[in-house]
Parts: sequence; structure tokens; C-alpha cells
Amino acid sequence: MDRDRILLTPGPLTTTLRTKLAMLKDWGSWDADFNVVTARLRAQLLDVVHGHESHVLVPLQGSGTFSVEAAVATLVPRNGHVLVPDNGAYCKRAARLTQMMGRKATVMPFAEDEPVSAAAVDERLRADPSVTHVVLVHCETGTGVENPLAEVAAVCERHGKGLIVDAMSSFGALPIDARGIRFDALVAASGKCLEGVPGMGFVFIRKAVLDACAGNSQSLAMDLHDQHVYMEKTGQWRFTPPTHVVVALAEAVAQFVEEGGQPARLARYTDNYRTLVDGMAALGFRPFLKPEIQAPIIVTFHAPAHAAYEFKRFYEAAKRRDFILYPGKLTQLETFRVGCIGAIGRNVMQQAVNAVADTLREMGIPNGNPTR
Ligand SMILES: *Cc1c(COP(=O)(O)O)cnc(C)c1O
Repeated sequence: MDRDRILLTPGPLTTTLRTKLAMLKDWGSWDADFNVVTARLRAQLLDVVHGHESHVLVPLQGSGTFSVEAAVATLVPRNGHVLVPDNGAYCKRAARLTQMMGRKATVMPFAEDEPVSAAAVDERLRADPSVTHVVLVHCETGTGVENPLAEVAAVCERHGKGLIVDAMSSFGALPIDARGIRFDALVAASGKCLEGVPGMGFVFIRKAVLDACAGNSQSLAMDLHDQHVYMEKTGQWRFTPPTHVVVALAEAVAQFVEEGGQPARLARYTDNYRTLVDGMAALGFRPFLKPEIQAPIIVTFHAPAHAAYEFKRFYEAAKRRDFILYPGKLTQLETFRVGCIGAIGRNVMQQAVNAVADTLREMGIPNGNPTR
């Protein structure tokens, strides 16, 4: 194999050699050198959302879902009531974990090809004062739709409700400014748009609600308040940290800053996205979402209508050309997804489109047209 395969998946994703090389060293979890890495990383993550005044940053071991679960466990009292606007798979996951932790969860369904409506959330909060928190998925990675974070945050603030944001697939790419958007917690992870490796999440918690979080969590490992208190006191992680993941993320964030931070990352991903959708359109493929509601993070395409199409074969043929695609997550429609994020640029995206064109030829499919 001449080069690593390119992951067109929304985490794990393609990382730079520099990020990978950062993992070739062992660190003691209690060692002062490692504590410095953790402290600097926490400060740099607060920089990204301009949150030093308003928020603390609490990292947590595990995949992204662990941190969503921890945010709900820590922020929502056991008798709390969570409203989850649902326009996709990650919204459903958030509702499910909320319920499983014994909090009341009300799911508010929306169409999968539409953003959540802030006006509808407003109406719902007016109708049901028992709701204490809203959980919003910023970019619903199941389809790629961007939900209106600023508008929903304004609605929650007006009603005096807590807001927990799953910004896993948007953080670092889409703008999020804590000075203008009020959220109680915002969750992201190492292996998405910051282009680190997977293995840790992190949660911004609003200082004004932090003290009231003590004792909410029914889980020891998921208690972000406890993690925060311990880290402030000792500079250390409460339990064994994913040391290699942490130093890789620190190296990835250094590159993020050098590239020009969030605006530069958004510009590169937008360029990747345009290269992808233009190239795929020329092959006859059609995206599932209207472009005006699509985030430049991950694109859902309709499968070609041709009888010879089968995702597994399509995937294997693209993989032989060194590109890893992603299956669709819609129940009603045959689709597949292509990520625009990771340490890749326009040239790699064009090569990905060429690989898809070759793949269609090999499968005997004249074009990607989803209708016949
Ligand atoms: C990736 C992702 C998660 C976390 O998924 P894990 O598999 O646990 O890392 C949660 N929410 C969204 C929107 C995501 O894109």
C-alpha cells in the first residue's frame, strides 16, 4: 500500500502525519509534563468558542457519546425533563441515553430533510413548562443537516431553560461563539473537525450552572462536575487519561491554530464539499438535502437506481481505490454518505470523485442517477 487509505467518514477521519507522530511517546498520567499538555489544551479549546469568561472545559475519556451521556447526567437533575427536537439518528440517540439514565425525555419529531424549527421549540416550551432542558444536535451527522443553534439558544434563554448542545460534528468548523450564544453545556470530541484521533470527548459547562451540577450524576465515571473539581485541584484527570489521544489532540489543535482556526477550517471543508458535490453531480448523483440546509461536514447521496448497485460492492470497489465511504443512516431510503472533514483538501476530494467514477464503470453502472 503506497499511502494510507483516505477516510471519508465523520470520525475517525484522516489525520496528518504530524498528529500520528505525536503518539510515539509514553506519558505518565500524573507527570507534570502531561498536566501541562492537558491545561494548555483546555485553554485552547475555550479559545475556540471565546468561552473563557463564561464556561469551563471538562474533558472526558471515551468516544463522543460518552460525553453526551455525561453532559446529560451532570447537567440534568434526576427529576428533570428534557426536550429533544429530533431530525435524525443522533437526536434519537441523545433521547435514548437521557431516558436510560432515568430522566424524563420528550422527543419532538421533525422531518429528516428539514432543520429543527426554533419557532416550534418556542411553542412547545410555552405549552409545557415542566421541561427543564433542551438537547439540540447542532449538525445532525445522520444526514448532514445543520440545525439553527443560535435561534434555539435564544428561545431557551427567553424561557429560562437549560440548553445542552451536541456539537460533535460541527465544533471547530462551524462558528460557535459563547459570547453571543447561551448554552449550559456543549459537547464535542477529539476525532472530528479538530482532526485528532478518537478516544476523548470534552464538554463546555457554563460557570453559572456548574455548582448546581454537584450530585446530579447517577454515575461515577460520567460525573463531569467531579472530573472538573478534581482536575482544578490536582491538574490531573480523575481516572486514567487516554494519554496518546490527548497529546495527539494537542498536536492537532496546534495545527488548527496555525491553519487559521475555525474560519480557515470551515473554508477548507466548504471547498472540499463543493468539489465533492460538483464532481458527484457531474456523475449524476443527487444529494438528499437541499444545499441551503446542508452543513459542509458530511453529504448524504441517494443511491443510484441501477439494478447492479449494491452498497457493499460499491464500498469495496471504492476501498480498493483507497477511499473509505460511509453507509447511509436513513431507514426509508437507500443512501450513502461521504464526509468532507479530515486532513484532506480539494485534490484528494477530486481523487475521491474519480474513484467513484471508476467504481461505477467497474460495476457497469452508467451514472449515479437515483431515478429511472
Ligand atoms: C460522532 C457523533 C457523536 C458521537 O459518536 P461516537 O461514535 O460516540 O463518537 C455524537 N453526536 C454526533 C452528532 C456525532 O456526529
